[in-house]
Amino acid sequence: MTNTADVIIIGGGIHGASLAFHLAQRGVKPLVLESKFVAAGATGRSSGLVRMHYDLRLECELAWKSFEYFRNWDEIVGGECGFVRTGFIRIVQPQYEDALQANVAMQQEIGIPTLLVTADDVKRLMPYFETGDFRVAAYEPESGYADPPAAAASLMSAARRLGATLKTGAAVAEVLTDDSKVRGVRTASGEVYHAPVVVNAAGAWADRIAQTVGLTLPFTTWSHDVMFIRRPKPLGPSHPTVIDDPLEMYFRPEQGGLTLVGLESGNPLGEDPDTDTEHPHPGFVARAVEHICHRIPAMEEGSLHSAHRGYDGLSDDQRAIIGPAGPEGFWLNCGHSGTGFKIAPATGLSLAEWMLDGAPQTVDIRPFSLNRFAEGRPLRAEHPYADIWR
Ligand SMILES: Cc1cc2nc3c(=O)[nH]c(=O)nc-3n(C[C@H](O)[C@H](O)[C@H](O)COP(=O)(O)OP(=O)(O)OC[C@H]3O[C@@H](n4cnc5c(N)ncnc54)[C@H](O)[C@@H]3O)c2cc1C
Repeated sequence: MTNTADVIIIGGGIHGASLAFHLAQRGVKPLVLESKFVAAGATGRSSGLVRMHYDLRLECELAWKSFEYFRNWDEIVGGECGFVRTGFIRIVQPQYEDALQANVAMQQEIGIPTLLVTADDVKRLMPYFETGDFRVAAYEPESGYADPPAAAASLMSAARRLGATLKTGAAVAEVLTDDSKVRGVRTASGEVYHAPVVVNAAGAWADRIAQTVGLTLPFTTWSHDVMFIRRPKPLGPSHPTVIDDPLEMYFRPEQGGLTLVGLESGNPLGEDPDTDTEHPHPGFVARAVEHICHRIPAMEEGSLHSAHRGYDGLSDDQRAIIGPAGPEGFWLNCGHSGTGFKIAPATGLSLAEWMLDGAPQTVDIRPFSLNRFAEGRPLRAEHPYADIWR
């Protein structure tokens, strides 16, 4: 292997893999340097929800364009992404009913299959749901969940078939610059790789990479616990994927009669992402059980299967940081703030266009640029909900 590449991508998560695939499709030969293995970070722990409902139009557009990939993965990428259609429901508290209605209308304008339903409709769909604490919800019949490590692995394999190179066990220690221009990277074991362009897709570790070129990101680490419970048989073989704002929770079915549950509150910030991810934080499982049993009382008869945690980078406005920043040739694709899996296909495509053509064509992702923070233009939705992570 030569030590020179067109572009070096730091990080072999879903975003590094998607960018590598889209650059390679355009004839560029990227080198992906991954400190551990593909999907070792947030991607390997991701709950994999694939839905289009956001309050920010730009994220809806990215999720919608990405949905084309999830539905036609074998055709577009090759291999598996494990997409399972379950239908998706977003429940909101009464104070966000107007915002929900406006956001569903905005999403319909984009072309997203979504509609406003009542609590009675939800009850008809899932008679075992407790529906007394909300009046309306958004329903996406086509949405569901996918398998993030499989999606990352197949994107990376496709990229390699097109000429990309992957080096695992290669932790980048430093981005090398000359006269304010990027010229490559040095790994922790002292190897030097040359490239005029370096992309920081290092997930929860991205601020460490950015610091080596003198950039401070408005960014912290976000830790998130997830639990799997075995559903009691009477609940049936599946259920929709749900974001349940009143209970600060989301849940979805998992193969083998399991239900995955995550909580939107109580996700510690600022922890070292190298901390053990095999175990959830103390108290998480009890809280998650309490919340899921509130929505689905029959879950009382379920049993705990397993639980773990993961880390992502969380930006100050809880939206991704994407675009050129710092020395010439240095690009960011990080800060995906706990929701970056489902938008990775279209983000990689749009970023490749930006890098190669001077502007993104598919989705204009330039508002995600780092300078929005210094310029006082954080990304805010027209009809916002509360921050996702509290
Ligand atoms: C528990 C959990 C559940 C989630 N659920 C969802 C969900 O349901 N839906 C959704 O859309 N999103 C979800 N997310 C968010 C989503 O998974 C992330 O936003 C996305 O995976 C981020 O991908 P990434 O490629 O940017 O980062 P990562 O997947 O973290 O990849 C970064 C990679 O960089 C590598 N790396 C780090 N430092 C270096 C270095 N110095 N040199 C070389 N390599 C390095 C790491 O090993 C890692 O593999 C969830 C996240 C977590 C943690």
